[in-house]
Amino acid sequence: MNVLSPFRNLVLTRHDIAKSWKTKGKHVIGWSCTYTPEELIYAANALPVMVFGDLESTKLADIYLPINTCSFARSCFNSSLKGDNDYLDGFVASSSCDNRNKIFDMWRYHIKIPYIHFINTPHTRTERAHNFFYEEILRFKTSLEKAFGKTISDVALKNAIQVYNENRLFLKKVYDLRMNDPPLISGVEALEIVLSSMVTSKEEHNQLLNHLLTEVSNRAEMPKGGVRLLVSGSVMDNSELLKIVEAVGGSVVADDWCTGSRYFWDLVDSDGDPLHTIAERYLNKIPSSFMLEGEERFGHTTEMTKRFDVEAAIIFVLKFCDTHMFDAPQLMEELKALGLPVLYLEWEHSLSGLAQLKTRIEAFIEMVGGVE
Ligand code: SF4
Repeated sequence: MNVLSPFRNLVLTRHDIAKSWKTKGKHVIGWSCTYTPEELIYAANALPVMVFGDLESTKLADIYLPINTCSFARSCFNSSLKGDNDYLDGFVASSSCDNRNKIFDMWRYHIKIPYIHFINTPHTRTERAHNFFYEEILRFKTSLEKAFGKTISDVALKNAIQVYNENRLFLKKVYDLRMNDPPLISGVEALEIVLSSMVTSKEEHNQLLNHLLTEVSNRAEMPKGGVRLLVSGSVMDNSELLKIVEAVGGSVVADDWCTGSRYFWDLVDSDGDPLHTIAERYLNKIPSSFMLEGEERFGHTTEMTKRFDVEAAIIFVLKFCDTHMFDAPQLMEELKALGLPVLYLEWEHSLSGLAQLKTRIEAFIEMVGGVE
C-alpha cells in the first residue's frame, strides 16, 4: 500500500473517525485555533479535532454573518449549522482574530453543543501575559474536569506532553524529507499529513508517521519536483490549491501557516510543572498573525526559506482575513530582501475564481523558471 494514502484517507473520513470514537464511549472536542492546548483534552481522555470547513456553498451561515466575514470561519460555521459536526461533545475557541472571536458567539447561540469554552489568549508575550495565560489554561482544565467529570492529573498531562512532542518530532522529520531535490514527499502530501494529525488520535498518527519514515525512500513514485516554493498565509484546510501549484511546475517544500509548521514546530518542555510548561509553549510558539510578534514570525519564515532552499514564495490570503492581510506587505518585503520572487494571492474558501488563480500561479512559476 502507498505509505502516503492513509493520511489523505484520515482527512477524508475525519467525521467517521470522530463518530467511531463516540461508539467507544469517548468524547470528541472540536477546536478552531492552534493556540488551544490539545494536551489537556487528550489528558481528559477525549479526542481533540480541528474543525475544518468544506468547499460547499455557505447559504446557511450567510443568513447570520456579515458579507465581510472571512470565508474559512464562515465555512466552519456553515458546516456546523448543517449538522456535519453534530457528534461534537464540545467546542473550544480561543481569542485570536476578530472573525474567530465573533463567530464563537454565533456558535454559542446557534449550535446546540453540550460544552463550549473560550480561552482568552493574550496577543503579546510579556510576563503579565504569560501569568494571565497560565490562569486561562488552569481555568480551561477546571472547566473540562467539571464538564466531563474527570480529573486531569499531572501524570496524564505528562503523558500527553510526551505523545504530542513525539508527534511534533516526527512531523519535523517528515518536513526534512523536503530538503532533498526533488523532495521525497510533495507539498500536497505534507499538508495532508499535518491536517490528518489534527483530526485523529496522536498515537495512531505517530505509528503512521513512524511507518512512513521507514518506508518512504522505497516509495514507487517520487514527487517530480519543480520550482522550490515556500507557501505562507491564512489557514489552509484542504489541498486543492497546492494541487494546482504542483500541477503547473511548483514544488512546495516549506510553509509558514497554522496548518503547517506553526502548528507543530515548538515542543513542550517535558521538565517542570506540566500545566506551566504547556501554557508557556503555546504562548511562545511560532506566532500566528494575530500576535504582535511580527519579527519572530517573519524570522521563522526566513529560516524556513533557508532550511529548505526555497526559490520563490506564494502568500495565500483568504479574503477578509485581516490579520494576514496586514502582515502581507511586510512579509513580502522580508522575502524580497532575501532575493525571492513573491506572488500574493487572495482566495475564497469555496475556491470560486479558481481558473483565474490557476492562470496567475502558472504565470508566476513560469516566470521564476520552472517550466521548460
Ligand atoms: S483565516 Fe484569518 S480571519 Fe479567518 S479565522 Fe483564520 S486568521 Fe481569522
